[in-house]
Amino acid sequence: MTRYHIGVDSTDSATMGMCTTYLGAVLLEKLSDIPLELLSPPELIRLNPNVPWKTRGNGAVCLRFEGPDGLWEDILFILENTIWNMSVFEDPQTNPGCVIVQGEVPESFKEIYQRALHEILDLDMVKEVGFTADAILKGWKNERGLIGALAAVGADLSEHTYEAILYRPGGVKDRERKVDISSLQKATNSYPTTFFNVDEKGDPVCIPHSPCPVILGIRGVDPSDCLEALKLVEAEGYERWVLWKTNQHTDSHIEMVDDISELKPYSSISAEVIVDSLPKYRDGGHLFFTVKDNGDHTAVCAAYEPTKEFRGKISGLAPGDRIRVWGSVRKEDVPDITINLEKIEIKDLIGQYSDSNPRCPKCNGSTGSMGKGQGLRCKKCGYRGEEMTPIREKVERSLKIGLIEPPPDAWRHLFKPSSIPELKEKPYNGPWWGSGAP
Ligand code: ATP
Repeated sequence: MTRYHIGVDSTDSATMGMCTTYLGAVLLEKLSDIPLELLSPPELIRLNPNVPWKTRGNGAVCLRFEGPDGLWEDILFILENTIWNMSVFEDPQTNPGCVIVQGEVPESFKEIYQRALHEILDLDMVKEVGFTADAILKGWKNERGLIGALAAVGADLSEHTYEAILYRPGGVKDRERKVDISSLQKATNSYPTTFFNVDEKGDPVCIPHSPCPVILGIRGVDPSDCLEALKLVEAEGYERWVLWKTNQHTDSHIEMVDDISELKPYSSISAEVIVDSLPKYRDGGHLFFTVKDNGDHTAVCAAYEPTKEFRGKISGLAPGDRIRVWGSVRKEDVPDITINLEKIEIKDLIGQYSDSNPRCPKCNGSTGSMGKGQGLRCKKCGYRGEEMTPIREKVERSLKIGLIEPPPDAWRHLFKPSSIPELKEKPYNGPWWGSGAP
């Protein structure tokens, strides 16, 4: 018997439909027709969210099977046919790639996965890694999908969540889905280990508006709860479902750094810094402020308009506050390094003070300054006394120590919210995919 690890990426189009996870769902059915046994849950792997040529969430899939030796030709035949028939080749951004590895996953693939979360990888380098490991690689058009496909095979899911996705047929392109929102709210309340279903107002955040085959996805930390919650949701037009194991909401894309002068374009980082300027709104409602690290290197932090109330919550920061920031660095921002904020943690708030003038001790009139270093004088009776000095009072800060995060609408797939339930998986022996209703 041999283990077969299959990675696929870049089959879909943001405007013309499809979704690589849907192709993965169809592959699960097609590959079950040959004698292959699913070894582990199907995997939905998110890679560097700052890749400029991603369609949406930079997702790839990996399916791991066990079956008779020498089956790779049958697997490749099914893969090629399915990718050929289902990918949106007309879209210039769609450049499919698939990878088959037999036996153990090579260490070099695990390294590519780690790098694919943080860097922009060179396709020829990735192909070389694949060929050196005797993997089977098949790419179409510019073959860029091979990067995600190979990285997905090397994925480390020691930290993970789940997503139960309900699909409609690939040919359905409507932007609206028929989902009963009250049943989704009920599912959310019934299964508290699920998250990212509805926002604080009860409006859905798990139903896409694109022409893709996903009707909705229920994310959570327990596979059985995700599936049970999905069963409670009343939706029309479904065709199949898959329960994916995924690196979503694990902050896997984040690298801890001490020195912000070393920020690399396209990376996502977390650093402890000191606020260096008052936050200011600029055109478009984006909020900016500068920060510095221990070595006095500075960077700009940006909370863009789509992060909504997050901007208002952090607008009360003041120079001297100590915070931890999480965010991504984009190429156009370098050398004026800008960290596009995903969340912040307030570690320490500086004391803020306000000065006011005392009342006149003689006539209780208001007093005013007579100029720099010249003391105060009563505006009413003209009294000038040495005892009249400005009164300094501590200002109550609107901010509190702790994490501040944007609303779910603004979360990236890999973003780890503080509200995520602790991972306490119950044993799950049920199916990972199926046709029709879950
Ligand atoms: P979906 O989430 O709907 O599957 P997508 O956002 O994943 O869409 P893709 O069409 O897969 O979009 O585009 C991402 C492309 O970027 C793929 O070709 C993938 O191989 C490539 N890619 C992924 N990570 C990296 C990386 N770190 N460096 C270079 N290319 C990458």
